[in-house]
Amino acid sequence: MCVRIFWAEVSRMNSITLDLPEALELALVAHCKRTGDSFDHVMVRALADFLDLEHHTIYQVSTSGALVEGIYQGCVRVREILKQGDFGLGTFHGLDGEGIMLDGTCYQALSDGTVHPADPDHLAPFWVETHFKADVDTTFDQIRDWEDLLCRLDTLRSSDNIFAAIRIDGIFSRIHYRVACKAKSGTDLVSATEHQAEFCFEQIEGTLVGFFTPDYAHTINVPGYHLHFISRDRAHGGHVLDLAASSVNVAIDHEYQLKLVLPESSSFLNADLSEDPRAALEQAESKKRP
Ligand SMILES: [Zn+2]
Repeated sequence: MCVRIFWAEVSRMNSITLDLPEALELALVAHCKRTGDSFDHVMVRALADFLDLEHHTIYQVSTSGALVEGIYQGCVRVREILKQGDFGLGTFHGLDGEGIMLDGTCYQALSDGTVHPADPDHLAPFWVETHFKADVDTTFDQIRDWEDLLCRLDTLRSSDNIFAAIRIDGIFSRIHYRVACKAKSGTDLVSATEHQAEFCFEQIEGTLVGFFTPDYAHTINVPGYHLHFISRDRAHGGHVLDLAASSVNVAIDHEYQLKLVLPESSSFLNADLSEDPRAALEQAESKKRP
């Protein structure tokens, strides 16, 4: 015997009707009663698992605390990173530049100002990515600077307590970004980024790729906003410090799940990660320097 189950979710999701065998229906109802999960949630999770898609899930390699302590030894290959998402950012073995993943391609921005598709055999010591699917899609006009952008992004997120992926496309009237220079493992992040390469462009078209991380997760990822830039011609890119734009498209993907992969290197296993990394991250990742 078959029954018909109908489910729908608001905001950009499609409705599907399907014939469900009785045994599956009984199992589904029992599961939902037991866990309190909605039919929608179970079916979306089941389909995502079957199709190997992890929407609303962040896949992350290592932690912000480890990066601050200078753990730059790569532990996951780019070819593996490419299987876990299509949108993200990070860095490469030895803090060798900035990583940008956009539309399923992974790029390495180097401190000489060049950008290349990342070698699939390259290793990353830190990476954050997702399968990007917009929950919010809108336009921002007349962005004065970085702080102005962040205030406006705040209004688009539904909570300060969940993660979000952020994609911004358009022409930037001004953009200032940095690219980390290679550093020896064990050099703390603040010292390593004291000699970073910085670049400024005007009237450049491109995309900002990044994440919002809740403050409570500051030992896991950079708290607040962290955005990398890549130009439309894929010739320029780096970690954004400041910008201005007259009109850009802004898309937000809320992230409710986090898959964290921890390095098995001795430098990670033996590191003291008990320090609060917020002050060091603020210094190393923003344009505010003492
Ligand atoms: Zn960055």
